[in-house]
Amino acid sequence: MSMLNKKTVEDLNVKGKRVLVRCDFNVPLKNGVITDENRIVAALPTIEYLLKNDAKVILCSHLGKPKGEPKPEFSLAPVAVRLSEKLGKDVVFAADDNVVGDNAKAAVAAMKDGDVVLLQNTRYRVEETKNGEEFSKELASLCDLFVNDAFGAAHRAHCSTVGVASFVEESANGYLMAKEIKFLGAAVENPVRPFVTILGGAKVADKLNVIENLLNKADTLIIGGGMAYTFLAAQGYGIGKSLFDGEKLDYCKDMLARAEQKGVKILLPVDCKVAASFPDPIDAAIDVDIVAADAIPDDKMGLDIGPATEKLFADEVKNAKTVVWNGPMGVFENPVLAQGTIAVAKALAETDGTTIIGGGDSAAAVNTLGFGDKMSHISTGGGASLEYLEGKELPGIAAMSDK
Ligand code: ATP
Repeated sequence: MSMLNKKTVEDLNVKGKRVLVRCDFNVPLKNGVITDENRIVAALPTIEYLLKNDAKVILCSHLGKPKGEPKPEFSLAPVAVRLSEKLGKDVVFAADDNVVGDNAKAAVAAMKDGDVVLLQNTRYRVEETKNGEEFSKELASLCDLFVNDAFGAAHRAHCSTVGVASFVEESANGYLMAKEIKFLGAAVENPVRPFVTILGGAKVADKLNVIENLLNKADTLIIGGGMAYTFLAAQGYGIGKSLFDGEKLDYCKDMLARAEQKGVKILLPVDCKVAASFPDPIDAAIDVDIVAADAIPDDKMGLDIGPATEKLFADEVKNAKTVVWNGPMGVFENPVLAQGTIAVAKALAETDGTTIIGGGDSAAAVNTLGFGDKMSHISTGGGASLEYLEGKELPGIAAMSDK
């Protein structure tokens, strides 16, 4: 089933309606102070649209892992304060330990069009992560319409992402969610070609399903990072002390054979930066040699791609019309071993195709390297974007009303 034909907030008639919005307010907190407000900022377009269109806006989110119990350190109270500053208007915080309690009910009953109420952390309720019917119904009882804007939680079927949708008149994706679907969905379901995907990171095992799905979609699959060495071993090369997943060796051989059958180009490193041991601490000074991929000494490990590989990968990326990238090319936390990841980030920044970063480490790397604003889209959900790339249906999107 396609996830591209779901209603968005603009398809709903929201005037005068009570609209429950599931946001991703899972912000980092230190001693009760929000240390990164990106997720709050990212939620604003949907909230502001609803306010402009005279809805009554009820917000909910999880924060951290209180594991089904009210724990003050996971209270959304600081989010209410910051959100109120950002919106320039009062955000009434309904501080019920049971989320939909007397405070929430009274606050919602008193709402006028254009008012905002924030509910307490949905994970204060043990039923939340089990998608229990009772809590889903309680949430639905507060609203007429439901909008899901929490892409980072879209791969989980919880009461506040999925369950509630069955008990409201209509549901739709918010702007943030719609943007994720627009980029990731179009890339996976209907990419403009050539479609090049780049996978890196530590382990083959983490990305088995992604590799498999993308082999059916992409024109070129580029593999770098720690996971590349099991592929090099599958080609019969000695890889010294590099990361190696013996259990996945046959899988890698099979993928190489299937790529050839399908006419999908697989690019592996042709040279690498090797060192005697893994840097400790990770950003410690380190001596590296550059060697061909088929000449890694027995007593060395590959920790980044080499300059010839940087060029090979960059040239492929520059000719692409769609690029999806997930996972760094080397131990990018170390400046000496970040070159490969920087080269790929630069190539993406320079291509005029659509460039999509699949969350997690790659998103952090692109942002810290200063290429963030050069990408078409940086996904806000690591786990959710990986599952999307695996070709899985995301329950939080599937539950929304069709157009
Ligand atoms: P993303 O978050 O973008 O999905 P990821 O988090 O899945 O990526 P991981 O599998 O966690 O990626 O791998 C990232 C880690 O892999 C980094 O910490 C990096 O140092 C490490 N890494 C990259 N290349 C190598 C290598 N050649 N040898 C050992 N570790 C590596």
